[in-house]
Amino acid sequence: MVGNIDIGLARAAPVRAGLAARTVAVTGGAGFIGSHLCDAILESGARVVCIDNFHTGRWENIHHLIDRPGFDVLEHDIAHPLPASLPRFDQIYNFACPASPVHYQSDRVRTALTCAQGAMNVLERAAQDAAAVLHASTSEVYGDPEIHPQSEDYFGNVNPVGPRSCYDEGKRFAETLLTDFAAQADLDVRIIRIFNTYGPRMRPDDGRVVSNFVTQALEGETITVYGDGAQTRSFCFVDDLVRGCLKAMNTPRGLPGPVNLGNPCETTVGELAELIVAMTGSRSEVSYRPLPVDDPRRRRPDIRRARELLGWSPEVPLREGLERTIHYFMGESRRLYAPVGS
Ligand code: NAD
Ligand code: UDP
Repeated sequence: MVGNIDIGLARAAPVRAGLAARTVAVTGGAGFIGSHLCDAILESGARVVCIDNFHTGRWENIHHLIDRPGFDVLEHDIAHPLPASLPRFDQIYNFACPASPVHYQSDRVRTALTCAQGAMNVLERAAQDAAAVLHASTSEVYGDPEIHPQSEDYFGNVNPVGPRSCYDEGKRFAETLLTDFAAQADLDVRIIRIFNTYGPRMRPDDGRVVSNFVTQALEGETITVYGDGAQTRSFCFVDDLVRGCLKAMNTPRGLPGPVNLGNPCETTVGELAELIVAMTGSRSEVSYRPLPVDDPRRRRPDIRRARELLGWSPEVPLREGLERTIHYFMGESRRLYAPVGS
């Protein structure tokens, strides 16, 4: 098939003999978080179909899985209905969407449609299969928050017509659609709100702060702090996040509403720059650039709900997560990768 590069869906087989393996779809499975999810779900004994249009995803992220029994890839844009030829799914992780401001703003209409139409297509497929859905929402639904830390019952402070709106409002609309569809169709839908997550397999040209600072520090380039660096984020290592995703999807009671997943350890962007420069032993200088429009000033998750419902909390401290991320980027070269969208 051209367009839908369907590499051997027919060869999917139970990974462990004797296990009635679940079949699980991961949209966005070739992306940063999605590829780690594919690894973890396969490890659990399920079959995985990775569905991705490779907009920001990379073959390199899933290359190690290609020949693994029980793993298949479908190149497909979730803004279009999922092909009928796919197997029946027990679970669908809906993670397809560019997450870096640089990339989700490069085609805002496409981003909004990925969020909205993509969610609808996933829901329709889930209803057909009676599959459970775990949807990757975001801390961006809180916008530039007026309360701190952010708990799930805060409705947010989002500009509906700014440069970030395609993503923020797209994700908010998706939450509405998922919630209403689930109620009307009696479907098992679970929503997680992910806070800044980082780690190996981020693209060197991803554009988010951790990958930018690490690649800049390693290459001796100027570290680009936007604004005065006083804005805060709370960074979660990807392994912690993926563990939380699996718990959220598999907790037998389901989720009563959206659940924050993130690391409450808050740091300023300026402190992050200093830490990365120190850890890499870099001679890079810090330069200050204009703060992007609507850039949130503070962000920290209240994770009481995740602790109570899932028994989950992050375990990897920032320094350790950064060490593993720096190590990963040391083995990477920007030149190896084609630009986003090519
Ligand atoms: P990413 O850009 O690395 O991965 C997104 C994946 O989705 C890519 O593989 C991309 O090719 C794919 N994709 C994009 N549009 C698609 C479409 N229309 N059809 C099919 N595939 C498509 O980003 P990530 O950091 O891995 O984020 C994954 C998910 O988690 C996203 O939904 C994002 O909104 C959410 N999230 C991430 C973070 C974070 O800090 N990493 C925070 C909040 C929410
Ligand atoms: N940021 C920065 N330099 C960069 C990239 C980002 O100072 O090279 C800042 C950005 O303005 C924001 C924070 O780091 O305040 C986190 O940005 P990121 O794009 O990683 O995620 P988001 O804004 O979506 O939380």
